[in-house]
Amino acid sequence: LQPIHVVGGGLAGSEASWQIAQAGVPVVLHEMRPVRGTDAHKTDGLAELVCSNSFRSDDAETNAVGLLHQEMRSLGSLIMAKGDAHQVPAGGALAVDRDGFSDAVTGALEAHPLVTIERGEIAGLPPEDWSSVIVATGPLTSPALAEAVLSLTGEKELAFFDAIAPIVYRESINMDVAWFQSRYDKVGPGGTGKDYINCPMTKEQYEAFVDALLTGDKTEFKDWENTPYFDGCLPIEVMAERGRETLRHGPMKPVGLTDPRNPDVKPYAIVQLRQDNALGTLFNMVGFQTKLKYGAQTGIFRMIPGLENAEFARLGGIHRNTYLNSPKLLDPTLRLQAMPRLRFAGQITGCEGYVESAAIGLMTGRFAAAERLGRALPPLPATTALGALINHITGGHIETIDEGPRSFQPMNVNFGLFPPITFTAKDENGKRLRGPAKTIAKKRALTDRARADLAAWKAGQDMPAAAE
Ligand code: FAD
Repeated sequence: LQPIHVVGGGLAGSEASWQIAQAGVPVVLHEMRPVRGTDAHKTDGLAELVCSNSFRSDDAETNAVGLLHQEMRSLGSLIMAKGDAHQVPAGGALAVDRDGFSDAVTGALEAHPLVTIERGEIAGLPPEDWSSVIVATGPLTSPALAEAVLSLTGEKELAFFDAIAPIVYRESINMDVAWFQSRYDKVGPGGTGKDYINCPMTKEQYEAFVDALLTGDKTEFKDWENTPYFDGCLPIEVMAERGRETLRHGPMKPVGLTDPRNPDVKPYAIVQLRQDNALGTLFNMVGFQTKLKYGAQTGIFRMIPGLENAEFARLGGIHRNTYLNSPKLLDPTLRLQAMPRLRFAGQITGCEGYVESAAIGLMTGRFAAAERLGRALPPLPATTALGALINHITGGHIETIDEGPRSFQPMNVNFGLFPPITFTAKDENGKRLRGPAKTIAKKRALTDRARADLAAWKAGQDMPAAAE
């Protein structure tokens, strides 16, 4: 069998290599460190964790990333096995000893008879005689490779300031205060004139909000992130620093919107939220990209009327990132449509986070191995955490109703990506559940469905038993 080449030995590339080798297919893993470094990595170990040492919640019953852990374990994930083996105490989260973890991943891959590790940068398109390649070079992909990939895509850019606006669960927005309306009732393609959720503010509320933005704790940029802002995606706190009225004339302008409950009262400012996924379960805060620290963000954004009890699927942030416009460019098995011998995995596909990157590596590795072995993998149900994440990357995302250069944004796994579910919102005595108890019942129903559907998918696949 010809080997599959994996470029990048981070979270995704290490997991992909392991899955390929476990399926009985030889793999060559190319990692540029230590020959060439990145601005964030500090060692030459595979699967180095560049920042926190947390894989986040390990609760597979009521947490989407916990469910993803469980699914990955059940599919023989190397990253999860070594994470579990090098766990450090962290409450309900799975945190790991970063050096022990990275050494263990490196050791397992070095010891595998079907894995060859080559150290060196792939500084351009992979050679033509590599018939199957997985590019897993992450948010800090070396510029030579990023440019070569960019030239294949017809896109203008691949490396971005990842200006991320927070995303809120629709069901946590108080619609007694907020209302649906598009500015000037404008009906765009696929729209209804009621596409945005609007949260009104009085003058006093606006002033207090601006004060909170100005004094809130900010994340400082690292030197390597010292790329100029595009004026189109300034962080909201930087806009606030430019003048107290700037936001009211920018993303918080109140024009063209009328509160149906108070048609005669003109709000002083309005925060808009735009639908973020096809299911309509997630809404992003328009223009609210921010580098406020996470703790500060929750407190400040809950000052917005209608968002008092907002639950966030993702908080805002800004860092350099390299990722493809995947819904447009990749096929359902993560192949580049313009050059199908190239597959992509990890953060470069537009997922966010260590676990998600490894999860996409796991599936991409399986897709590539199945292809090489001439076997078909049935499509992964979108009701599983792995399937929901792949669905987000390869097409579950809607093209927004709004203008804007590009709407696809990196995303952590979360329940908003799962298809809706009907469930019994009653306790054992038949009493109707409300509030947090109802939310928990819904999450349990989602994770139960995911487990059943993953088990059925596993039973239907035709891969060598060694893969698990
Ligand atoms: P990486 O783990 O970065 O692996 C990519 C590998 O490819 C690297 O080893 C790199 O050296 C190699 N490479 C790059 N170009 C080439 C080339 N041309 N040839 C050969 N090798 C190459 N996520 C979290 O969950 N928690 C965090 O705290 C967190 N903090 C982050 C902090 C920063 C500064 C950044 C940039 C990202 C952070 N992320 C975090 C997001 C993301 O989950 C991680 O970056 C994750 O490591 C991505 O996995 P990956 O496998 O896609 O990329």
